[in-house]
Amino acid sequence: MLTKKSAIFFGGKAKALQNGAMTITCHSTPLGLYTSETELQALINATPGISLLIDLEGTIVCANSKSTTHFGIELGELIGRNVFSLFDEATSIGRRSIVKQAETQRVPVFLEDERNGVHYRHSLIPAIDHDGVVRRVAVFAEDITERKKAEIALRASEEKFRFLAENTADTVWQLDGQMRFTYVNAAYTHLSGFSQEEIIGRPVMEFFTPQGRTTVAAMMVKRKENEALGKVNVALRFEVPHIRKSGKPFWAEINSNPIYGQNGVITAFNGIMRDIDERKNMELALRVSEERFRFLAENTGDVVWELDSQMRFTYINGADQRLRGFSKDEVLGRSVLELFTPEGKSIITDLSAKRRADEELGKVDPQFVFRAPQIRKDGTSVWTEVSSTTSYNPDGRVIGYNGITRDIDASKQHERRLEDANVRLQEQLQEILALQTQLKEQAVRDSLTGLHNRRYMEETLPRELSRAKREGYSLALIMLDLDHFKRINDTYGHPTGDSVLKAMASILLHGAREGDIICRYGGEEFLVALPNMSTDQALVRAKNWQSTLAARPVIHGTFSVEATFSAGISVYPDNSSEVEGLLRLVDNALYRAKENGRNCVEYEPMVEP
Ligand code: GH3
Ligand code: MG
Ligand code: MG
Repeated sequence: MLTKKSAIFFGGKAKALQNGAMTITCHSTPLGLYTSETELQALINATPGISLLIDLEGTIVCANSKSTTHFGIELGELIGRNVFSLFDEATSIGRRSIVKQAETQRVPVFLEDERNGVHYRHSLIPAIDHDGVVRRVAVFAEDITERKKAEIALRASEEKFRFLAENTADTVWQLDGQMRFTYVNAAYTHLSGFSQEEIIGRPVMEFFTPQGRTTVAAMMVKRKENEALGKVNVALRFEVPHIRKSGKPFWAEINSNPIYGQNGVITAFNGIMRDIDERKNMELALRVSEERFRFLAENTGDVVWELDSQMRFTYINGADQRLRGFSKDEVLGRSVLELFTPEGKSIITDLSAKRRADEELGKVDPQFVFRAPQIRKDGTSVWTEVSSTTSYNPDGRVIGYNGITRDIDASKQHERRLEDANVRLQEQLQEILALQTQLKEQAVRDSLTGLHNRRYMEETLPRELSRAKREGYSLALIMLDLDHFKRINDTYGHPTGDSVLKAMASILLHGAREGDIICRYGGEEFLVALPNMSTDQALVRAKNWQSTLAARPVIHGTFSVEATFSAGISVYPDNSSEVEGLLRLVDNALYRAKENGRNCVEYEPMVEP
């Protein structure tokens, strides 16, 4: 439509001026429309938007159909009208000055304004005649309402983006199509240590470590591959080491979204960067520790293993094959219980039950050590000590177990031999102890009557007296001597005499209390110590014995022997507080009983001075 001759030239650099509601853009170099009147009119008529051709006074020389529709004035009436008369006064003053500007400066002038909700862009192009004089101005008006709305919406969305970007804790960035920074938020500068001025306009690649640059280059290749497969608008996420201003590198996770222009070329990138330095360093530390663990595990003589929550092997080192003969492949994935002999299994079952009971009482110990025999591949068994640690996740569920198994077969056998020897020793010791007790008993007992002997009484009496003093009770002694015993022996024989002694002992034992001490003190002499007993009670007791003996003649073979005894009594604290004193006084009392004709009981009324 436009011939080469009628081409419109816009040269130089555009400059925007703000002038009230309208924007005026003008060129600094004088360029215009070089053409003839006819060609100008043809151009006006052919333009789809509102187009007018006016002279320098504003008189309409030519108008296209769109203009007649716009102004609502017939073409015939429009031609010859002054264009400024079609506007209100204020508008027309502005319009006049612009036309003047186009004429005098010989440059195209552009302005945008709004009338009744419709946005227009006006282009005023001075038409320079071949003689170099401007006589006409071509006016083009274009409805830019839609574009304007989009612009406003874009600005609003841009402002919203900036607001979010400046107020988020995440770092936000934008790059242009050449991957140079066009924007970073405050969080980004904070993290990197660079100011916005130091970042904006610089290639993003300058902010990565050499390793990071390789990663990003690989990402760009990947994006190209995606695009070749028709996958555009794919956001990429990757981890890349950055450099801080201080020179110290840090790990960041990048989310990058490409923005494609209309021609399918990326015009910008925007995205988020997240500081993952701590996590990366943890991962690194974990890997180092994991490697160190494997090294130790593979080189130790003990069996090192890991189980999952179902107690199946997830790891076992080479020591197991040396200990039990099974290869790793034969063990991994198997349940730990399969390792043990029936005896071992029952040990574990018992211990597990105990552990569960403890756990129910709140006693949770992640450490678990036990000894149990395991099965070897050749069918034999080996005693092992297993130390296990349970790993829990934060909600308390078991994640798995790990631990160490040690061969204790040699020490177990040694232990067993020791145990056997120990059992034998214990048995022997028991025998010795029993024998010793027996010997001790024999040493303090009288073999004929089974009563304690004098030695025992001499050992015990001081203790008994001390206790009586301590606890505040009395202690009575009764000493008895069979009457004319020599005669019994002489008449019926010694064995019969023995029977009388045994009968006497049995009478004394009968009805004795827990703490009473009864002993055969000499040949046919007996001494009885009675704690917590008064003189009167002792007297009753002795007389009872006498009547019992009198009522029961001793039968030996064909003999029936009637025996009697004489007795003396002394009592603590009535007579003496000393063992020697009590013994002397009891002996005196017995002597008096003999003197008084025998078969009677005498007590000591005297208190020792
Ligand atoms: P008295 O009434 O004065 O006590 O006279 P007695 O004969 O009982 O006293 P004597 O001391 O003269 O005699 C004690 C006798 O007891 C002498 C001794 O042979 C006898 N005798 C001592 N021990 C035993 C014994 O174990 N068995 C027997 N059968 N007789 C014994
Ligand atoms: Mg005697
Ligand atoms: Mg006697």
